[in-house]
Amino acid sequence: MTAGPRTILHLDLDAFYASVEQLDEPSLRGRPVIVGGPSRRGVVCAASYEARRFGVRSAMPTAQARKLCPQGVFLPPRFDRYSALSERVFGIYRRYTPLVEPLSLDEAFLDVTASRALHGGGRDIATALKRAVRAECGLAVSAGVAEVKLAAKIATDLGKPDGLVEVPEGGVAAFLAPLPVGRLWGVGPVTEAALRKLGVATIGDLGRTPDTALAAALGASHARGLRALALGEDPREVVPDEAAKSVGAEETFGEDLTGRAALERALLAQAGRVGRRLRAVGLAGHVVTLKVKYADFTLVTRRTTLAEATDDDRAIFEAARAQLARVDAERPVRLTGVSVSGFADEAERGQLDLFQGAAPPPPPEVEKRRSLNAALDALARRFGDGAVTRADLADDDGREDG
Ligand SMILES: [Mg+2]
Repeated sequence: MTAGPRTILHLDLDAFYASVEQLDEPSLRGRPVIVGGPSRRGVVCAASYEARRFGVRSAMPTAQARKLCPQGVFLPPRFDRYSALSERVFGIYRRYTPLVEPLSLDEAFLDVTASRALHGGGRDIATALKRAVRAECGLAVSAGVAEVKLAAKIATDLGKPDGLVEVPEGGVAAFLAPLPVGRLWGVGPVTEAALRKLGVATIGDLGRTPDTALAAALGASHARGLRALALGEDPREVVPDEAAKSVGAEETFGEDLTGRAALERALLAQAGRVGRRLRAVGLAGHVVTLKVKYADFTLVTRRTTLAEATDDDRAIFEAARAQLARVDAERPVRLTGVSVSGFADEAERGQLDLFQGAAPPPPPEVEKRRSLNAALDALARRFGDGAVTRADLADDDGREDG
């Protein structure tokens, strides 16, 4: 941990899905664009700022949006395209710090505390990021800069669209004080109503309310947490994607492995374990990371980003194997690992489900792999991970990592 105040950035692409549609189709620029489910029960995923002027909002039923904005251009979502652009934008963020915590395809926290010496203060870095995202991806991103996550996120919201709001050092509590208390994390409608009874309308009011009254209304621990937030105390750290959210398998070998063929066999088995674990928890990720530790303990990692989130053994293996070409496979290796991260955003997954009626059926080879994977899963459940051997392994010396 760096001592002293942190510098945290919150970055949120403006009207992301709708902006991408306007980026790709110039005739849509300046027009109300609404991305949403085409079915009768569909909801709005994103509305351009032109559409918002008519009162159209995310999560509103598409039918209602049509009434509010009959002249709107209604489009089905293209998540593959949004994911690809999102990866490019997050790649720009990672030039400034490895501490990037994605919240969704269009939103992330960055801890740039350690980057200040090289890149200037939070405002300078945010300005550079906004410029780079605009120049390289054609998109507007709003930024908030603060010492803590909560204030950075609220700052972004206040500056939208295309904003940059900085909360001065030491100024978090003063920045929060005039805002409605519902802005705090952990204050839903029920808590808000309870607070209103105490005469608490703003975050500043909350900070001034006696502990005993708050504790009586909300319970001691909730009260303590909210008061700390109201005073600007938010110790939560920016947790980079990989550490927080990856599913992996790795193995330290009994004897060091040397040569591509031996390493590929290890990766194949590890990719299978990762796939099973992902499917067991219903996750699919865009980023496949290969980890290789040499006999002298030098560690290298190589990663690749797939256009489509995957939980498929074969796709994970192929991605890891491709990364093997980028490391020295002739040195003795004591450990390899494969992991998948960059999980499809929850909203994205939910929306995909909603729109499933409109989506084309998956190609037959995908169906085939799905049923193969389901069968392997059942085997692994019954006999344990080590019992499952892919056909690809059956014709070699059978060294499995189970
Ligand atoms: Mg956004």
